[in-house]
Amino acid sequence: MNDHYKFINTPLPYGYNALEPYIDEKTMYLHHDRHLQTYIDNLNTTLDKYPEYQSWTLEQLIINVPCLPDEIQTAVKNNGGGVFNHRFYFSGLARPSSSEPVGVLSQAVENEFGGYPAFQNQLKTAALSVFGSGYAWLVVNAAGKLSIITTQNQDTPLEMGLFPILNIDVWEHAYYLKHYNVRADYIDDWFHVINWNHANRNYRRCFNMVL
Ligand code: MN
Repeated sequence: MNDHYKFINTPLPYGYNALEPYIDEKTMYLHHDRHLQTYIDNLNTTLDKYPEYQSWTLEQLIINVPCLPDEIQTAVKNNGGGVFNHRFYFSGLARPSSSEPVGVLSQAVENEFGGYPAFQNQLKTAALSVFGSGYAWLVVNAAGKLSIITTQNQDTPLEMGLFPILNIDVWEHAYYLKHYNVRADYIDDWFHVINWNHANRNYRRCFNMVL
C-alpha cells in the first residue's frame, strides 16, 4: 500500500481492456496512466520541499489540509483529492458481470433505498446532477447511515467526515472517448462494472469503525 510520499502510481488490478465493452481500453489507459499520474506527480512535487509532511498518509493530508502551510493547501487539496478519488474509483471497478450488491451491503441498500433499482435511479440522478466535474458517491455517515452525495472537482467525502463506499468519476475524461457528451450512457455502462466485493468490504470496515 503506497499511502504516503513518495507516491507512486500502482498498477490497475485488471487489464486496461478488462472493462470492455462498457469502459474502453484507451479511456482506462489515459485515465490511469496520464490523469492519475499527473495528480501523483503534482502531489509529490508539492511535498518535495516539505519533509515534515512526507510521512503523512494520503488520508491524513486530505483531512488535515487546514493545518498545512497556506501556500500548499490548495495543491494538496486538489492533487491529494485527485489521487484518493482516482485510486478509489479504479479499485471500485471489476470485470463485467450482472452482479448486484453483496453481503451486508446488499441488505443495507435494500433498507435504505428500497431495493437495487431504486438505488440505481438515485445514484444516476445524482451523477447526472454534477455540473462540470466531480463525482457521485455512496457513503456512510458517522451514525452508520448510507446516503448518496456528490462532490465537485477533487473534493472528497473524507473532509466532510463521511466514509466512502463507492464512487463514479463523472469528469468528462472518464467517458468522453466512448460516450462523447452523453454522461447518462456512461453511468448506465458503469453499473455493469462495479466491484461490489470491494464496496462491501468498505462498508464492513466503516460499519466496524462507526457503530
Ligand atoms: Mn478522473
